[in-house]
Amino acid sequence: NLSERLERSFKILKGEGKITEINVAETLKDVRKALLDADVNYKVAKSFTDTVKEKALGQNVLTAVKPSQLMVKIVHDELTALMGGETAELELNGRPAIILMSGLQGSGKTTFSGKLARMLKAKKNRKPLLVACDVYRPAAVDQLTVLGEQIEVPVYSEPGSKDPVQIALNAIHEAKAKGYDLVIVDTAGRLAIDEQMMNEIEAIKKAINPDETLFVVDSMTGQDAVNTAREFNERLDFNGVVLTKLDGDTRGGAALSIRTVVNKPIKFVGTGEKLDAIDQFHPARMADRILGMGDIVSLVERAQEQYDEEEAKRLQKKIQKNQFDFNDFLAQIHQIKKMGNLKELASMIPGVGKAIKDIDIDDNAFKSIEAIIYSMTPEERTHPEVLNGTRRTRIAKGSGTTIQEVNRLLKQFDQTRKMMKMVTSSKMGKMMPKMKK
Ligand code: GDP
Ligand code: MG
Repeated sequence: NLSERLERSFKILKGEGKITEINVAETLKDVRKALLDADVNYKVAKSFTDTVKEKALGQNVLTAVKPSQLMVKIVHDELTALMGGETAELELNGRPAIILMSGLQGSGKTTFSGKLARMLKAKKNRKPLLVACDVYRPAAVDQLTVLGEQIEVPVYSEPGSKDPVQIALNAIHEAKAKGYDLVIVDTAGRLAIDEQMMNEIEAIKKAINPDETLFVVDSMTGQDAVNTAREFNERLDFNGVVLTKLDGDTRGGAALSIRTVVNKPIKFVGTGEKLDAIDQFHPARMADRILGMGDIVSLVERAQEQYDEEEAKRLQKKIQKNQFDFNDFLAQIHQIKKMGNLKELASMIPGVGKAIKDIDIDDNAFKSIEAIIYSMTPEERTHPEVLNGTRRTRIAKGSGTTIQEVNRLLKQFDQTRKMMKMVTSSKMGKMMPKMKK
C-alpha cells in the first residue's frame, strides 16, 4: 500500500546527510509512483511531488533531525494541505436546515443519511427529519425507514409518488409544520452517471435550495471516484464530499485527488456499515494514515519547536573553531532532556547521540554525566586538555562517580568533538544552523 511504499522510499534516504537534488529526485520518483498506484490522479501526483521538491530543497537540515525524517514531515504537511488543511464543518443556518445527498447508487447515501441524522441529533441536539426521495426502488424507501427506526428519527416518504421534487418540497413543509429543524434528503442514484439522474438531482436542488449539498462517494472506486466527483460538481456545485467505505482495504488515492480536482472539502468519512461508523474528516489525520508515520511527524515537530536557531549558529561557530567544550556538551544534554522521550531523541542529536549510544539512556545516565561536568572548573570545561590524572581523580570524587566513568566521558567527548568537526566541514554542516519552522 501507499504507506509501505513511501516508507520504503524514505528508508533509502536514511543515512543521507543532506537533502540534495539527487536524493530528493529519487525519493520523489517513488512517492509519485506510490501515489499513482494508489489511484491518485497523475496531474495531482505531479504537482504534489513538484511542491514537495521545492519545499525540500529550500529546507535547511536541522541538526536534530535526519533528512529522511524531514522529508516525511514535508510530505505529510503537503498531503495535509492537499486535502484541505483544516477540518471543514457543515454550514447549517436554515430553519429547518436542509442537507441534500447526491451520488451514485451504492455509494452509501442512504446509510450516511442515517449516520448523519443520528450524529447531529446526539451531538448538536438537532431534531432531524429524513426524506426518502428514491421513487424507483421501493426497497430503498424501506431501507431508510428501517434506519430511521433504529435511530428514532422519523422518515418522510410518499408511496406511489413519482415526483421526487414534490416529495422533497412536501417534506420541508411538513418539517416546518412539525418543528423539525433539520431535513436530510436522501435521493436515488444510478449505477453510472446518467442524464436523467443528473436532471433530477439538479431539479431537487433548485427547488429546495439546501444549506448543504453533499456528494457521497465510495472511496474504493479509486480513479472513478474522481471522475464522478467532477461530473456531479459541474452539475450541482456541491459543498462537500463524503468518503464512504474507508474501513475496507481502501487505497487513499480518492481522498487525495478529489479535493484538488473539484476544489471542495471532504467533510465526513464513513468507516463501516454500522450507524456510528462516521467521522469528521481531518486532513492531518488522513495524511498520518496514508503515511503510517504519525510518530515521526510529531517527533520532527517537537524537535523543531525546541530547537533554538541561535544556539545552533553559536554552536556551529564553536565547532568550526574547534572550541566545542563541555559547556556546549552540557547544553546539548539539556536540549535533549527538554525534548522529552530520551531514548528516541538522543539519537537525533549528532555527537551527543553517538557519545551516549552505549549508555542506558535514562535520566541516571545523564545525571552522572552532568555531575562530572559540574565538578569541573570553568577552565577545565572550556579546555578539557588540562584534565590530567590528579584532576580526574578530584572530579570523580566530587561527582560521586568513578575515575573510569570520568575517563569514559572524556574519551566520548573527544570522539564527539572530532566527529562534529568532521561533520561540519562537510556540506551538510554548512546547512546545519539555519532551520525555519
Ligand atoms: P446508496 O445506494 O448510495 O444509498 O448506498 P447505501 O447506503 O444503500 O449503501 C450501499 C452499501 O454500502 C450498503 O451495503 C451499506 O451497508 C454499505 N456501506 C455504506 N457506507 C459504508 C461504509 O462506510 N463502510 C462499509 N463497509 N460499508 C458501507
Ligand atoms: Mg439509497
